Amino acid sequence: MTSVIRSLFAFAATATALLGSLGMATSTQAYQFGQQELNPEQVIAIAEPIRNGQLYKLLILEQISNVRPCWQERPGIPTTIDPLLLNFDFTGICGRRSDSNGYSLRLGGEDLDGRYRLQIVQRGGTLVLLAVPARDRNSSPLEIGRSNGVTTDLAKIELNAGWRMTRRLYNGQPVGHIYLTHDQDLNTLIATASTATPSLSAPPPVHPLVENQPPSPAQPSLESLLQGRPNRNPPPLFSANSGLYYRLVVPANSPDILERVHAIEPGAFRNTVNGQAVIQAGIFRQRPRAVELQQRLSQANLSSQIIQGSGSIASNPNPVMPRNHHGQTVVMIDPGHGGRDPGAVGIGGLQEKVINLAISRRIQQVLQQRGVTAILTRTDDREIDLDPRVSHAERANADLFVSIHSNAISLSRPDVNGLETYYYDTGYGLAQSIHNTVLQRTGMLDRGLRQSRFYVLLYTPMPAVLVETGFVTGQEDAARFRNPSARDQIADAIAEGILNYIQ
Ligand SMILES: [Zn+2]
Repeated sequence: MTSVIRSLFAFAATATALLGSLGMATSTQAYQFGQQELNPEQVIAIAEPIRNGQLYKLLILEQISNVRPCWQERPGIPTTIDPLLLNFDFTGICGRRSDSNGYSLRLGGEDLDGRYRLQIVQRGGTLVLLAVPARDRNSSPLEIGRSNGVTTDLAKIELNAGWRMTRRLYNGQPVGHIYLTHDQDLNTLIATASTATPSLSAPPPVHPLVENQPPSPAQPSLESLLQGRPNRNPPPLFSANSGLYYRLVVPANSPDILERVHAIEPGAFRNTVNGQAVIQAGIFRQRPRAVELQQRLSQANLSSQIIQGSGSIASNPNPVMPRNHHGQTVVMIDPGHGGRDPGAVGIGGLQEKVINLAISRRIQQVLQQRGVTAILTRTDDREIDLDPRVSHAERANADLFVSIHSNAISLSRPDVNGLETYYYDTGYGLAQSIHNTVLQRTGMLDRGLRQSRFYVLLYTPMPAVLVETGFVTGQEDAARFRNPSARDQIADAIAEGILNYIQ
């Protein structure tokens, strides 16, 4: 069935709107989404400068209704964009997508969300929009478009021939997610691409979009729509603890340099290597991953060295990162979202990122009291992409990974409340233990134990779960989140579920 559909779309790419309905009939996850054509006049790709042009990220604006213009183009080299939508309440008039939850790559009718990231790099006097392989460093980046000049204003990205933007269809319904689309499939494009290896910019942040979602409790929740990253080829698990490794270090140890390295790699820490005080940015089994991080550091004017070593990564001196030595269990707790990314926003402006951190901290506290090492992927209000969360858990040799989120559906649906616990494969037992314990201890509504391909579940080598601790848009759940003792009760129950599973 899959191959029939694939060849069908190789010949009839314009029929891709059919894919939404056809896709559900196949067993392949990648085909559950379809695409809908957009008027090219009503959607624009923009390079948005970060930190005064040290980095750029992709911003996509959409004119949804014609009440007021959402942006204005100023001719020049490059063409710059005046974001008019910032001057008014653009709800229902303009769409704004600023991260990987709002846009992704779709080639030849196939979603490549988990496999490629959309990034903007500065190269040869222009800003280039690239699809960069997220994990498989043997794959080539694809060039999608360029600005034809560099500016610290918003720059228009002109798409290359064959590229356009389309809208994601889910079960045939349009949703708030834009595709950078080409009708040729990945292999054909790679074969014809002449793109040189780019230097990589920092990956885009995660940010959910709440608008344009049809509210219905019968459908998967908003978070599962937004965070599920279809990928038919999950990578192999992290290799065994032997063989070569590549340690990436910045030869400095001052707090301000540590801070700058942290901004790029939140898992960085001070270490001593060959008698020298350094900041260790990462340690990898695969050299290309160290090179990729080195390039990101050098874009921020941080010079670093790759030091090759061999043996077990876990046995190397590492004063900060807890290890599962002596049979002690290490649990990585992952508070979702943070920094500029608030996550879901609910009743009275309740922010998911705040709830996630409070619950995660409390879980950490309870686990530590019970003699289990618990580490957080973030301990403050900072933005971290999904991949560093996973690699942090890898480096810490965590035994379990528990991602903490809160759910949202629509402010018009305060009746939708309850607990959802997600796993991908090996996390099933842990998910079951947490889910049952939370239901027993809190009396929350049961929205089920669910299997899903969330990025952090797919790419973590240890049993991993994602707990949606309630709906910030739900009357009952939002009240629970606002009450510190009720919120602690959720955290305590999650910790108890983890402990029950360990024992
Ligand atoms: Zn979330």
